[in-house]
Amino acid sequence: MTKYIFVTGGVISGIGKGITTASLGRLLIDRGFKVSVIKIDPYLNVDAGVMNPFQHGEVFVTHDGAETDLDVGNYERFLGLDLNQHANFTTGSVYSEVIKKERRGDYLGETVQLIPHVTDEIKRRIYQIGKDTDADIVITEIGGTIGDFETPPFVEAIRQMAVDVGRENTMFLHVSLIYTLPNGESKSKPTQHSIRKLQELGIQPDLLLCRTSQPLDESIRMKIALLCGISAEYILEGLDTKCIDEIPLNFEKQGMGHLVSKKLGLERRATMDTEWVAMVEKLKNPKHNTRIAIVGKYTTGNDAYISVQEAVKHGGIANEAAVDIEWIDSETLTEQPNLDTVFEHVDGILVPGGFGYRGIEGMLVTAQYARENHIPYLGLCLGMQCLVIEFARNVATLKKANSTEVDEETPHPVIDLMPEQRAIADLGATMRLGLYPCVLKENTKSYAAYQQPIIVERHRHRYELNNRYRATLESAGLCFSGVSPDESLVEIAEVTEHPWMVGSQFHPEFQSKPLAPHPLFREFIGAVLGYQRQTRACVSPEN
Ligand code: GLN
Repeated sequence: MTKYIFVTGGVISGIGKGITTASLGRLLIDRGFKVSVIKIDPYLNVDAGVMNPFQHGEVFVTHDGAETDLDVGNYERFLGLDLNQHANFTTGSVYSEVIKKERRGDYLGETVQLIPHVTDEIKRRIYQIGKDTDADIVITEIGGTIGDFETPPFVEAIRQMAVDVGRENTMFLHVSLIYTLPNGESKSKPTQHSIRKLQELGIQPDLLLCRTSQPLDESIRMKIALLCGISAEYILEGLDTKCIDEIPLNFEKQGMGHLVSKKLGLERRATMDTEWVAMVEKLKNPKHNTRIAIVGKYTTGNDAYISVQEAVKHGGIANEAAVDIEWIDSETLTEQPNLDTVFEHVDGILVPGGFGYRGIEGMLVTAQYARENHIPYLGLCLGMQCLVIEFARNVATLKKANSTEVDEETPHPVIDLMPEQRAIADLGATMRLGLYPCVLKENTKSYAAYQQPIIVERHRHRYELNNRYRATLESAGLCFSGVSPDESLVEIAEVTEHPWMVGSQFHPEFQSKPLAPHPLFREFIGAVLGYQRQTRACVSPEN
């Protein structure tokens, strides 16, 4: 029978429920259990597809083409699984389903209400994941913070689930903040209040993860245990850490896997996997250090490119290197007279995905700089389109070449809207989304990376390389090393006369995992280290 774990958050948003959920999932998988994960988002958007990445972070794409919350990416990376569209749902999607059923007459004249109709729809979705994946344990993370206006229907649904399946098959994990005053004193009252709020809604947390910037004081643990009715051994510490991959190990040291198994009456089936431990060891003890620039639109340290950031790290793990990232706002580059100073300290350049015209010219000068100076370059989706546009303008002499997304009047639309996109008016869920196969050409950098003739990768875009320009660009030295099986779409472009300049129309970052670094990121960081060896060797120590 499937067991259910629910994760809620207290006091502040961004408390780390996603990484906690993912880390617990990892521990349970390492104990031999089949785990599935769901993220519930209490906002009214139907999915994350049209949400601003600056405000909300990256839109993560599943293999079946759902545009989901970035936590689904964290789950996939920690669990080493590919999840699907059902792994993330929102208030918006629940309500639209209920209203659709009401319009269809499915409720047979009943008054349609928050309880039971909305709560039933929420429960149905969680149970369905358990059935579909045949999971031993389904972990459901409730987005938002307890006390928000938006969360009560979800909290009520999970309260009812505990009644339906039995309290012994359910576990409530609350992640909450222990606030540290400037004088170093820890305060548990905000956490006590959030637990009390949860209790008012009918839920008694079984396990409390205290997020804290300093080790959890025993007196705080005892106080919370007494006042909130949580057994002291089930009050764990979630100390701030820079290395998120270490979090499952920190939890395991405190016995989280054992405590959860005990509470749910689960017998351990395997010994703790050492693969994750070895990966963290590698991550913490790199043999090399290097630095790359990511040149994009959103650079202020939010999570707009979280999968790219993680995939770069994975490429580093595969090369035993720590990779520092210098974030560069592409809009600042067009007025920059000297790119040498901008890129002085980096050994590689990555241009990630993006939409709209803003910042494009800065990405184009970046691509040109990387090409002319033989700096390893990886272009992802828009970054690939920039590689192509720059090459068209400056090598194939197609002056003013552009993407029609940027300039509809360009004389050379080397990147253009896909024909099937022309009639589409809605923005939500209408792009080329999800997995598509791609055939690789032998003797190319892409083939060398993947070592196989056919690959499948995740997409999220409306524009494509314009086939009218394929021959011109090819004869100028651009190699289309990956194409769709019917050859109608270019999926990878690389500059032949360059040590490593590769752009993919798809998003390889979505499939990269710490235990399985993506081949393109592995090769990119390999090339970055090669460039570093070559260039830094000529620099005297005084410099
Ligand atoms: N804006 C471009 C397109 O729609 C690139 C999209 C992306 O980078 N994800 O094709």
